[in-house]
This record gives sequence, C-alpha cells and structure tokens, in this order.
Amino acid sequence: MAYMEDEQNEDYLFKIVLIGDSAVGKSNLLARFARDEFYPNSKSTIGVEFQTQKMNISGKEIKAQIWDTAGQERFRAVTSAYYRGAVGALVVYDISRRQTFESVTRWLNELQTHSDMNVVTILVGNKSDIKDAREVTTGEGKALAEAQGLFFIETSALASSNVAAAFETVVREIFSILS
Ligand code: GDP
Ligand code: MG
Repeated sequence: MAYMEDEQNEDYLFKIVLIGDSAVGKSNLLARFARDEFYPNSKSTIGVEFQTQKMNISGKEIKAQIWDTAGQERFRAVTSAYYRGAVGALVVYDISRRQTFESVTRWLNELQTHSDMNVVTILVGNKSDIKDAREVTTGEGKALAEAQGLFFIETSALASSNVAAAFETVVREIFSILS
C-alpha cells in the first residue's frame, strides 16, 4: 500500500527507499537523520531493513518509513519487494567518485521498472564535506536532476549538512500531492 490514512487521527505512512551504489553513504544518511549518528568506517552490516521517523508537516503527523539496503546493491540485486509500495526515493551518489554518479541513470531505470506509480525522487550528491577530491560538480548534479525531473541536493552525513532537508523535501512533496 502506498500510504495509510487513518480517518480518526489522519496518520500518514510514506515508504521511502534509499538507492545508489555501494558505499555512497546511504546507511549513514539514514543513521544521521533518524538517530543523529555517524559511522566513520561503516560496512554494509549496519544497514537496517527500515527505520520509521515521525515528522510534522502542516500540523499533520507523518511517519516516514525509510528503507535501507543491507548491502545487496553490490550484487545489483535489490529485490522488487524493496521497491514495492514506495512513494518516495533518494537516489544517492558520492561526489568524490564519478562512477557512482554515472550509475544514477541505471538506478532510476531500476526504480521505474519496480515501482507501480510515480515515485517522488530526489537526487542526492553525498559527501559534500570532501573538498579536495571532488569528481562531480554541483552543476553536473543539478543538470542531471533537471533533465530527469528530480529534486536535487548535496549532503554530508559526516558534517550533518542538508541531511534532514533531503528527506523532508521528499516527504513534503508526497504530502502536497496527496493532500
Ligand atoms: P552505503 O553502502 O551507501 O550504505 O554507504 P555507508 O553509509 O556504509 O558509507 C560508506 C562509507 O562512506 C563509510 O566509510 C562512511 O563513513 C563514509 N561516508 C558516508 N557518508 C559520508 C559523508 O557524508 N562524508 C564522508 N566523508 N564520508 C561518508
Ligand atoms: Mg548501506
């Protein structure tokens, strides 16, 4: 189910998926957003199935159920169950590794193939704290997002920059479409 609306207290539950190449920082974006934690040497084992985060938008309580992979993206085998019912997505790349940016179109195709509706999507250039080894400019990220009709943001899970904004952009847009 895409979302649930409880008639009594108007509870919303939005499923949001994190996708993108291995080691771009998906799990740390979620850890920072949901628990304000960061793991300097995280391995794929820290991935949880999903984490629910309460948010308040226009006086409504919204639960964002954010799904993280357990590292299976390394094998290009994220299952269709992962995408099922998703209404939002963060497609993440690492601004210091061009290859992860070049994978974005493949992840977008994968998202489209597996989802049954238009998924509100934000392109996220993570690790913006890395200044000396940047391989993807902000302009390139913006241009790709524009061409694909996506929101765009650069984040740092390490420096705690724009992380909440990335998730909130998606949740606000879903909410505004539904209400
Ligand atoms: P995932 O495979 O996409 O879930 O990536 P992880 O969240 O496991 O992160 C992979 C590696 O990148 C870890 O060593 C993290 O500490 C590191 N990392 C994640 N986010 C950032 C960030 O914003 N800045 C920097 N410098 N490193 C990060
Ligand atoms: Mg992970």
